[in-house]
Amino acid sequence: MSERLQVPRGTYDVLPDDADARVALEKTARRILGGAGFRRIETPAFEYTDVFARGVGASTDIVQKEMYTFDDGGGRSVTLRPEGTAPICRAYAEHGMHKLPQPVKLWYLSSFFRQEKPQAGRFRQFWQIGAETIGSDDPAVDAEIIALLATLLAELEVAGLRLRIASLGTLEARHAYREQLQAHLHARAGELSEDVRSRIDLNPLRAFDADHPGTRAVMQDAPLLLDHLDADDAEHFATVRELLDRAGIDYTVDPTLVRGLDYYTRTVFEFTSDALGAQSAVGGGGRYDGLVAMLGGPATPGCGFAAGVERMLLASARLPVGPPPVDLYVAFEHPAQRAAAFAVVDEARRARLNAQVELAGRSRKGQLKHVERLGARYVAIVGDDMTMLKDMQAGEQRDVAANEVVARVLRDRGMR
Ligand code: AMP
Repeated sequence: MSERLQVPRGTYDVLPDDADARVALEKTARRILGGAGFRRIETPAFEYTDVFARGVGASTDIVQKEMYTFDDGGGRSVTLRPEGTAPICRAYAEHGMHKLPQPVKLWYLSSFFRQEKPQAGRFRQFWQIGAETIGSDDPAVDAEIIALLATLLAELEVAGLRLRIASLGTLEARHAYREQLQAHLHARAGELSEDVRSRIDLNPLRAFDADHPGTRAVMQDAPLLLDHLDADDAEHFATVRELLDRAGIDYTVDPTLVRGLDYYTRTVFEFTSDALGAQSAVGGGGRYDGLVAMLGGPATPGCGFAAGVERMLLASARLPVGPPPVDLYVAFEHPAQRAAAFAVVDEARRARLNAQVELAGRSRKGQLKHVERLGARYVAIVGDDMTMLKDMQAGEQRDVAANEVVARVLRDRGMR
């Protein structure tokens, strides 16, 4: 016997119950985001590597060690998308969407790929629902993006939600602040973890994420970016907060909020759920006013969120699982009636009934047992002369002609 093969590490199969829950999640997202004027977009599963190297940032964990990068067969480097925002900004520039009425509002439900260490809630192929509003720097855009994700998570009844927000200011303000932070870290380098110390020059902001006690002590006295915003950025952040307050959305301002991508400017935010374990982030995002230009498009502001599908499913108290109800099951007495039964089930499906037909050559008794297992509402047993139609809920049965079964079921259902 050959060795039994399995899915690659960090990936998983979406089995039917999970697939049903995903369909329900997608429907909810489409209703909320579609209703708010967002149109669906789907970009390719891989992009030229530059889209991420330039967009996400060369010093980030994602670009440094998590991308699946390969040659496209013609000597050009391509990468399986690790995130959705840079590709959408690439598409915005490529299709001249700046000529449309602004802002352009787009949403997606796609799979993403990161070579991370797999653990509960963290996969190497995972799905995200995301929304991007591109072409306006109005603080109402930031507040709307946050509010829409809050609405989605509330509709899914994600338990123990917390929202943290911060502002990173402009790229220039962040660079100036970065130097101050680096000076602080260099001055107390001896107290830092090896990992943080080795990345002071590359990515000092990540030091806020550290668990190492010495590093944490150093970070207690670190300068905070929020205290170094220029007047415009501070006003922008104040307006976002005011809009969230008016909408009754709870949040805490967390000056240490760090997101793993370089393109963020001004507002950043993250929702976590207490219902999840160590990987508690359900979704987050922020503003990325320089990203479209970094990818070669016109200078264009933008703001968006991305939320993890697996984590929403794990934390949601509401998503249904299980197959749709069966309206009609068509059984038959003898194999000779298979064709007649097949015609009945086909007619039923054209009439939009959820209908199934016996496919496994079961005995009459076996078929009825199967009907019970399925919880079918009606069962039709096609016989030589007549078909016995039974309402399993009411317990009533009658003989009808095979070609009357569907009309009967429809009429019967309409009357109840
Ligand atoms: P990020 O773009 O890293 O902020 O991710 C946004 C959201 O996607 C996170 O809050 C998670 O819910 C989800 N996510 C990110 N990385 C993974 C992963 N490796 N596996 C599963 N979900 C992820």
